[in-house]
Amino acid sequence: MNPASPIPHLPGAAAPLRARRCVRHTEREAVARCSTCGGFYCRECVVDHAGRLVCASCLTKAARAAEPVKSKRSFAGLRRGVTLVAAVLVLWVIFYAVGSLLLSMPPELHEGTVWKRIGMD
Ligand SMILES: [Zn+2]
Ligand SMILES: [Zn+2]
Repeated sequence: MNPASPIPHLPGAAAPLRARRCVRHTEREAVARCSTCGGFYCRECVVDHAGRLVCASCLTKAARAAEPVKSKRSFAGLRRGVTLVAAVLVLWVIFYAVGSLLLSMPPELHEGTVWKRIGMD
């Protein structure tokens, strides 16, 4: 029917892997299927991981899942950062309160005349 098509269409047979295209490279023929997500990929996109063919994105996910300590540590770092910011904010509020308190005081207090006046009375 279409002599220009390089892929022969076999009616009744399961969709051949050759007819599939790589999810990432549409111009390339798929040679393998990811055992995790089931996507079709070319030879460059799949990696043999523990006897199973997985795509690069699934391998990254698996590597991340295999390192829960790392994610925990980063979460602890985040909490530490939040605590630090909160501490700085509290300190800033305290300094601001002390500063406004000093400003609200009469200038005589800073000069020491208030105490002199009390002492004279
Ligand atoms: Zn995958
Ligand atoms: Zn590819």
